[in-house]
Amino acid sequence: MSSTRECAYCGSKENLTKEHVIPDCINKRNPDQEISYFSRKNKIFGSDLTIKDVCEKCNNDYLSTLDQYICDLHDKYFSSYVETDEQIIFKYDYDLLLRSLLKILYNSSRVNKTRFKSLQKLKKYILHGENRPTHIKLYLKLITPYKLKFGELIKAPPEFKKTGKLPPEFTRVTTLSADIEKIDMPTVAFNSYYFMLAIPQKNITAQEQKEAISNLENLTDSPKQLLSKSDSLKTKGSSWDIAKVFKAQGLNSMKALLEYNARN
Ligand SMILES: [Zn+2]
Repeated sequence: MSSTRECAYCGSKENLTKEHVIPDCINKRNPDQEISYFSRKNKIFGSDLTIKDVCEKCNNDYLSTLDQYICDLHDKYFSSYVETDEQIIFKYDYDLLLRSLLKILYNSSRVNKTRFKSLQKLKKYILHGENRPTHIKLYLKLITPYKLKFGELIKAPPEFKKTGKLPPEFTRVTTLSADIEKIDMPTVAFNSYYFMLAIPQKNITAQEQKEAISNLENLTDSPKQLLSKSDSLKTKGSSWDIAKVFKAQGLNSMKALLEYNARN
């Protein structure tokens, strides 16, 4: 039987393999944490999303390098939660990092049917690092654990009662945006590490772009920009804890999270 499916990167119809939206090595490092938050239903589900549209060659020859890179970063950085004002020196390879994040977003776009066309244009950059998209700006914001209030502490699952804190233990794709008409801000979060990509929408002027970016920086309490000409960033844990992130997104997530943990 012939398949109409083709590789999302090279178009081949041969040997299509299963691709994890979030790299499998990240999921394996966080076995209790295969969590996706669906804002429409205001619920958290345990899930490990996959999509079967990447050929064996693209997967093994090119994309596996990106998975390895992001998992190395996980072991070095993402596996520890960052506290407010804690100093971090984050070392990175700009292209490997941006390509890894764009791959996760492109995977997510094919599952969720959002941003597909704009990300599809970047498939050669994701695959081979050709033609870096200079219109995209990349930021890092370090989200800190939330200190549970008395009433919440009583209802909290045992593992949170011990520390009195709700850790930012999410690997997820989300969106923070001040002005979606002018700028899209998809975010890939690995525990404390929130990588925010500012992608200007088509047809906005340089001035409008500047204003939209500055609004975003204010809205999100000045995340630090990761520059392509650099390979390290000195920053610190922000004043934003995980509860504030959810609140900024208008999500009643604390309730959903506590319910999720009570069930599992
Ligand atoms: Zn392919």
